[in-house]
Amino acid sequence: MQKEIPYKIYLEETELPKQWLNLRAFMPHKPAPLLHPQTLRPITKTELSEVFCEELAKQELDDTTPYIDIPDEVRNFYKMYRPAPLIRAYFLEKELDTPAKIYYKFEGNNTSGSHKLNSAIAQAYYAKAQGLSGVTTETGAGQWGTALSMACSYFGLDCKVFMVKCSYEQKPFRREVMRTYGATVTPSPSQTTKIGREILARFPNTSGSLGCAISEAVEASMQSESYRYALGSVLNQVLLHQSIIGLEAKTALDKYSVKPDVIIGCAGGGSNLGGLIAPFMAEQLQGKAKYRFIAVEPASCPTLTRGKYAYDYCDTGKICPLSKMYTLGSGFIPSASHAGGLRYHGMTSTLSELYHQGLMEARAVTQTSVFSAAEQFARVEGTLPAPESAHAIRVAIDEALKCKQTGEEKTILFGLTGTGYFDMMSYEKFHDGKMTDYIPSDEEIANGLAGLPTL
Ligand SMILES: *Cc1c(COP(=O)(O)O)cnc(C)c1O
Repeated sequence: MQKEIPYKIYLEETELPKQWLNLRAFMPHKPAPLLHPQTLRPITKTELSEVFCEELAKQELDDTTPYIDIPDEVRNFYKMYRPAPLIRAYFLEKELDTPAKIYYKFEGNNTSGSHKLNSAIAQAYYAKAQGLSGVTTETGAGQWGTALSMACSYFGLDCKVFMVKCSYEQKPFRREVMRTYGATVTPSPSQTTKIGREILARFPNTSGSLGCAISEAVEASMQSESYRYALGSVLNQVLLHQSIIGLEAKTALDKYSVKPDVIIGCAGGGSNLGGLIAPFMAEQLQGKAKYRFIAVEPASCPTLTRGKYAYDYCDTGKICPLSKMYTLGSGFIPSASHAGGLRYHGMTSTLSELYHQGLMEARAVTQTSVFSAAEQFARVEGTLPAPESAHAIRVAIDEALKCKQTGEEKTILFGLTGTGYFDMMSYEKFHDGKMTDYIPSDEEIANGLAGLPTL
């Protein structure tokens, strides 16, 4: 007989994974290589090492090593908030009156409030190990900047964050959390970089964009030999570090001999979803098991569902390498939705390739439907979800409701990537009935795609 499943499945500290899982090593058809933005040839480790620290450049290009050791110093930091619990959503199941069994992996249990810390720690560690003095980065909504600030203060590294100007002004709390951890936060565009000065000269009143902040952060890292750039999503190295989510979830489920039928995650750049599915997809690619994987994206930024699979620039300034991915075009500016972490124009190359091969599904959902799922979830499960995370909740609920109709007892696993305490302005709009559902027209999508580079 099956053991009774507790509300929270905790792992022991000793069960914290010792290695990350490199999903690309399990893929018979690898994602296409990153291209150098000038030469358009596959980028080399030496070239990448000018932007990222060496060990991370190596991880970025490694598509053959299946498991990579997690350094002890990184594991020690992980122990402050990991292993993260896997929760059986008994209360949500009851509320939905569904025969489905719902589980979620909660990643919001740290001060930065999201899964981003899992990669921030690794990136800060390798920078320190290389003897660098600091790292630069950009942040939009602020989750990544917060996570990297925490990691840098732990390892005694300087952290320079370029924060999109409108967020800098509208989200003073996140900014102050970063400063508490010792980071310097500069509103972008700024006078401190050439590209920032150029943009300010042309558009003095601009409220900034993520693409511009990336370009400023990369330029700032080039100003000093002892700084490198760090990025919180999209990259292969970030997916690698985030595999800790899936590895822990699988260990917890295996303890109770539970096998999920459907695995669901929200997808911005694709790092939490890539991490959550990693060990399950690896099994499937080896022919050992079969799962359904669903990526959930905002209808306002429908990268997988309406984008194109092509080489594109990762940033608006076109200084970062090109990646073959599902993209809406690096010039596509999504509407000001309330899920800031999902407003990226592209999708990590690994998930793009898996989706292209038909191994993953994708769904686009509107933001009012997302917030109603968030509220329903908060009222019965207690945790106040980040708007990004609530995209996964929406589809998990939809799948559970389908089971109610068909009577199927499916097991659903989804990723709850973070908490929403800094997003209460969005919740306010929702409660006041002022939230709208913007869906880009076919023409807007076509305009974005028209800007794709021709190779
Ligand atoms: C950044 C963020 C996301 C989206 O990023 P991915 O790289 O797609 O995982 C999702 N949820 C939260 C809470 C975030 O902060």
